Amino acid sequence: VHDVAPVLPVVGADTLVPLVDGRRVPYANLDVAASAPALQAVADRVTQVLPLYASVHRGAGYLSQVSTALYEQARRTIGTFVGAREEHLTLVTRNTTDSLNLLAGCVPVDQATGARGRVLVLDIEHHANLLPWQRVTDATVVTGGHTVAATCEEIADELAAGLAEGRPYALVALTGASNVTGESLPVADVVALAHDAGARVVLDGAQLVPHRRFSLAATGVDYVAFSGHKTYAPFGAGALVGRRDWLDAGTPYLAGGGAVRRVRATTTDWHEGPARHEAGSPNVLGAVALAAACDELAALDTTVAREHEDALRRRLVDGLGALDRVEVVHVWDDAVDPVGVVTFTVTGYDPGLVAAYLSAEHGIGVRDGRFCAHPLLGRLGFDAGAVRASVGLGTAGEEVERLVAAVGALVCDGPQARYDVVDNLWVV
Ligand code: PMP
Repeated sequence: VHDVAPVLPVVGADTLVPLVDGRRVPYANLDVAASAPALQAVADRVTQVLPLYASVHRGAGYLSQVSTALYEQARRTIGTFVGAREEHLTLVTRNTTDSLNLLAGCVPVDQATGARGRVLVLDIEHHANLLPWQRVTDATVVTGGHTVAATCEEIADELAAGLAEGRPYALVALTGASNVTGESLPVADVVALAHDAGARVVLDGAQLVPHRRFSLAATGVDYVAFSGHKTYAPFGAGALVGRRDWLDAGTPYLAGGGAVRRVRATTTDWHEGPARHEAGSPNVLGAVALAAACDELAALDTTVAREHEDALRRRLVDGLGALDRVEVVHVWDDAVDPVGVVTFTVTGYDPGLVAAYLSAEHGIGVRDGRFCAHPLLGRLGFDAGAVRASVGLGTAGEEVERLVAAVGALVCDGPQARYDVVDNLWVV
């Protein structure tokens, strides 16, 4: 895939980084699943809007009105991007973690038991879609099977058991695409199972929304959470979009200015709608940047984007998989439509060393470790972690080829420098 060009320009694509031998080479960012570089169009929009900075929902001045309008327009754009319907709210949050914690405080409390409703979670989840449920609700973690069908069956069985025991689930919390392997379950099928059992579905869209056209309206998903910094926008803004009844009745996420109708010395009337959960001065620039990314992605030819990422992903899977001592990780034998995330291990080398070697000797950025998905890594037998390469719209084929060649050189010749993987340093 040497000749495959990026689909859209991103900022920082020409950054040079130092190697252990003193050379400087263009940085190959193959850690897009962690944080994707901002699209050039997003950077342009931020530059355009920065001078219009003024307080939102709090001032009568002209720039306050402009800022407020920009913020509310951004909210509409973000909601439309994920197919929000009339009865949905779009909340601007900090990121996916924030969104899921917010929703966890809105799962209704069962009047009889005084506990929050039950939540069903698969063991493939990122901790962001596991710990909020574990902490404030009655969460059950279901171990997935080796195939997509077997995993869907596990979900169906657990939902049925909940009904049979008279303890039905309120919510199924599901990843849109795994941050470990990029694989996904058929969302609409899981929605059908959940809705049949009276449960709602929240989708952790952190890895899906930047890479596939996702629609709440088309899939029937009740809530989706995602992050700006994975969606080709800067850090600091994310979104939770979904059905308004739980959000309007739920515990306000933050207590403070803007979230209230009326405050007395000891009691408060909280707003409904987005304001209820968005106390404090909002992140206007973050929301505008995320909305600009949504506009760009919405205008993109989805076939072109998918084919680009798929060609790069296939090359990684085939190229790395063909190397001796390299194992490519997958969750299911029959994964559905994986996004551009490929995780692998190299026998004989600690994942931290592989990542340090790729950076120091080749200028390639990847992620190593357990990817905030300890239960899944444990089940798959990778308690010591693994290495993850991930691609996006700004990735060039040449970067992927560099990675395959670099891992090939590692398994043939070994590293040239010594690495202290604890402190993530190289020692010549
Ligand atoms: N879910 C998944 C699937 C992720 O990949 C990530 C980020 N690694 C998160 C949730 C959390 O995203 P954030 O750190 O932006 O809150």
